Amino acid sequence: MKVHITADMEGIATICHDDQADLKNAEFPRMREIMTGEVQAAIEGARDAGADEILVCDAHDTGRNLLIEKLDHDVEVIEGSAYDLGMMSGITRDFDASFQVGYHSMRHTHAGVLGHTYTYHIAELRFNGTIMGESGLSAAIAGHFGVPLVFVSGDAHAIRQAKSLVKNIVGVPTKEGVGLYGVRSLTPEKARKLIRKGAKEALGKLDEIEPYVVKKPVLMEVEFERPLMAQYASQVPLVKRKDAKSVTYKASDVVDAFYVFLVLNMVASYAKSEGPL
Ligand SMILES: [Zn+2]
Repeated sequence: MKVHITADMEGIATICHDDQADLKNAEFPRMREIMTGEVQAAIEGARDAGADEILVCDAHDTGRNLLIEKLDHDVEVIEGSAYDLGMMSGITRDFDASFQVGYHSMRHTHAGVLGHTYTYHIAELRFNGTIMGESGLSAAIAGHFGVPLVFVSGDAHAIRQAKSLVKNIVGVPTKEGVGLYGVRSLTPEKARKLIRKGAKEALGKLDEIEPYVVKKPVLMEVEFERPLMAQYASQVPLVKRKDAKSVTYKASDVVDAFYVFLVLNMVASYAKSEGPL
């Protein structure tokens, strides 16, 4: 059995501010340790259920977070910024299951701590009318390759959002927001224990979980935080302006949509650097 694990940082136990997830911050060494522990717990759970091949994608920010030397010696890890598929780098049709560890809610989620979708410039992302956060996007990319998302750990709201898209998955909340920069968290040790148990349980339910497949073609709608972001985004070929802060793009499939979405994030970053509009 082959398992793909995508690991983010904002959803791990204790993190309550994006400063802590920044490579240059004094708290970062502690956070990467906790993130590594949660990924290792998911690996152990997968092994308990009989997984023999595991690929981990270090999916937070620059992709240089996990302490690979502290992971099960027999896994492989994608580190740094890969060419393909963002947070789902490495996924192929050969995998049996997809796990998400350390995932967080989407932007503007009430009580969802540090909620965002790739960047803080995106107010809302929709595929064929369905709102997507990073969890939905990663599930959809796995689904494109016929691989079911079966396990999610992270912010309680990320799990709620994942469960609204994919039936029967196992979710392990490591914390819940008590403010946009505040959490009520499990201890890392308790989180690891529950993640290991949940990961094993999820692979046991593999027959009950369908890949999350987004119907083709995909109408992608992106609402930005600022109008100038939408103005510049609408100058990308085939991207159309919808209203003051939104654009649309008709994609052939989710992977096509995803790559345009990445470009729109870069355009939005540039627009932000131009001024406050
Ligand atoms: Zn993220």
